[in-house]
Amino acid sequence: MMINKLSYSAISTYLNCPLQYKLVYIDGLKLLPKPYFSFGNSLHKLVAYFFKDMFLKPPALDDFLKYYKDNWLSEGYETKENEKEHFLLGENILKEFYNLNKKDYKKPISVEYYFKVDFNNIILTGLIDRVDKLPSGNLEIIDYKSGKVIPTIYDLNEDLQLSIYHIAAEKTWNILPEKLTIYHLRSNTSLSTKRGIKQLDKAKELVFKVLEEIKKGNFKPKIGRFCPCDFPQHCPHFSKEVKEENIKREDNNKIFKKPKKISKEKVMLINELWQLMLKKGYNKEDAKFYITFNFGKEKGIELTLEELKSAIEEFKDSKDNFKRVYD
Ligand code: SF4
Repeated sequence: MMINKLSYSAISTYLNCPLQYKLVYIDGLKLLPKPYFSFGNSLHKLVAYFFKDMFLKPPALDDFLKYYKDNWLSEGYETKENEKEHFLLGENILKEFYNLNKKDYKKPISVEYYFKVDFNNIILTGLIDRVDKLPSGNLEIIDYKSGKVIPTIYDLNEDLQLSIYHIAAEKTWNILPEKLTIYHLRSNTSLSTKRGIKQLDKAKELVFKVLEEIKKGNFKPKIGRFCPCDFPQHCPHFSKEVKEENIKREDNNKIFKKPKKISKEKVMLINELWQLMLKKGYNKEDAKFYITFNFGKEKGIELTLEELKSAIEEFKDSKDNFKRVYD
């Protein structure tokens, strides 16, 4: 596979699940909107606005908050209330950010810097939130995080994203990134680390390893804590559940209106089963679910009339055979 461009997000997605990487970065499927994407992006926009355009002083608080309101991203929230809660939370975070950061306001070298660097024939891309120049003349790379959990120093020391930013910044400006900082927005706390040769070598090795696996076409699904992702229908571990869920949702009437795919005789048998189940005391919801699951669009086409008949016979003969027949 001809891949020679990677970003931290792509690498991280591959490490979490190679199949998900393929679906997003090769097949081009789009991730679904999520509240935490919108919330994080809304805060990032404001932080960039605070430093951007190289103001010699920070914008006025009113302008800052107006910019927040005007640029708020409302995609992905399930309810208006939930969106409002997030909006107010963001406003409080930003007011605190404003007050803390206006005191020693200084002009960054760069804000939201999109890098594209050649790294041993791999093009590494990404977006660095902020780059400052330290009194030593070296660089400080700052990455803003909007998640709930404050990262620990151990997280920072192992963080592949910071290693990639270090490599990219050094190549871009030819100045040592002396300090790598994560700024946790919800708590307005910052934590810094640095990189040594060993850590950078380890990161480079990992980048090459991921690239090799991609080139080999290894896109095995890897179950993890975020499963199912946005694409369960394309995943062998979850596609069956999706089909079952879709069938379950189908309207009862639809089950019996499939004359093109299910023969008349099959429809009659299914109706017979339906009546039988109601007579035996099953409620309509349960009967609908099991019939749909077993004889609906997916399975009804595959089952022969004989199989259907014998299922009904078995069901007639037994008092508690519901599961046995339809499992
Ligand atoms: S559901 Fe999990 S295992 Fe399947 S593709 Fe998505 S992340 Fe990978």
